[in-house]
Amino acid sequence: VLLVVLDTTRADRLGVNGYGPETTPHLDAFAEQAVRFERAYSTSSWTVAAHGSLFTGMLPVTHGATQENLRLDDELRTLSEYLSASGYQTAAFTNNSWISQVTLLSQGFDTVVPLWKERAARVPANAHPTNRSVLDWLEKYDGARPWFAFINYVEPHWPYTAPQEYRARFADSEHSLRVRKRAGFPAINWYLGGRRASPEVLRARIGLYDAEVAYLDAVLGALFDELRERSQFDDTLIIVTSDHGENLGERRHQGHSFTLYDSTLRIPLLIRRPGGASAAVRTDPVQLTDVFATVLAAVGSEVDDPRVTGRDLLQGPLPEERPVVAEYYEPRTFIGRFPDTPKARAAVAPFRRRLRSIQVGSEKLIWGSDGRHELYETSLDPGELDNRIERDPERARALEMQLATILAGLERDVSDPQPPLSEMDPEAIERLRELGYVP
Ligand SMILES: [Zn+2]
Repeated sequence: VLLVVLDTTRADRLGVNGYGPETTPHLDAFAEQAVRFERAYSTSSWTVAAHGSLFTGMLPVTHGATQENLRLDDELRTLSEYLSASGYQTAAFTNNSWISQVTLLSQGFDTVVPLWKERAARVPANAHPTNRSVLDWLEKYDGARPWFAFINYVEPHWPYTAPQEYRARFADSEHSLRVRKRAGFPAINWYLGGRRASPEVLRARIGLYDAEVAYLDAVLGALFDELRERSQFDDTLIIVTSDHGENLGERRHQGHSFTLYDSTLRIPLLIRRPGGASAAVRTDPVQLTDVFATVLAAVGSEVDDPRVTGRDLLQGPLPEERPVVAEYYEPRTFIGRFPDTPKARAAVAPFRRRLRSIQVGSEKLIWGSDGRHELYETSLDPGELDNRIERDPERARALEMQLATILAGLERDVSDPQPPLSEMDPEAIERLRELGYVP
């Protein structure tokens, strides 16, 4: 079993999902032999909460790894722990330092390769340190037991620094060096600077992001080629997804903090059965929690925990009216990074809150703990620009009730809250700084 997370990759960047520029030729080819989910959603817009769901099949309210509690409880039984119990050799290859012992998201793997420590050098796709590391591990594989490998590639996450060849294709030819340099700003500067940039800078930023997606597509294509050469591709269940998307100027947001719009919730999801059998396109609403359930069903492992909301996706489509739920907790670590000035405090004041969202069919409610709720009709308004909350208060109330009922049944006490950042591994803190999370 190979589970690949393309950290921070938006669903709409895949060619096979309708994107114009040639970003993902390898994933598009892969999709021809896979079940492709057009409406796949994360359970949060943030790495820790989303991976918590991927590894437990539970919503953040249950697994508890959120912005307000930066770790996954040891007591929870994770995907790798289930697979170990089923006889699998398990390994995690992680380029994101949030997926580490700091958060306990790496719990349960026999082998954890902290690639974030050597910080992805921008090298040709076929020499990517992650691929080398995965292949080295497979070299040592004895063949006696099946294997499960989890990979987190982090390229589309800011900073957008794809190799020159990819930047040339997506950004350099259209924009001057001065514009490209300005386009690489950290999200924090955006919020401090009044959330404005020229249209040209914003376009260049999109080009820089797309270049990262294209580069990562080539990296993944190279890994698949290597697996084919080793006869490890065709008999493997391969899942490619993401943990969340990225705002690229929509509704004047950048990065993936502060929002639960579809620009950060919609993710790619491709599942290739061994042999590439029964390829299909699915339009039923699915979530990261379902990946957990699908993998375990595929290996014949029983899950009897009622807190697991994920469902086996290969059993067939789920109901169209199935609620899609996501949560965002108060981003204390990120906000703590802003300078302590009146101007900065004013800039982040609207974002000191929790968010929850529920989508049923094409109606979506975003609930804010400060009372600022939003209601959208996503089939008519995919950009979530026309907030109908004042016009349709009854529908909003019904969705709010449904959301509250779902979450009330799943909430779990977090008795042992997060360690302060000062107790974390200094190397991990350094990597989090590079990702823009800590000062
Ligand atoms: Zn992430």
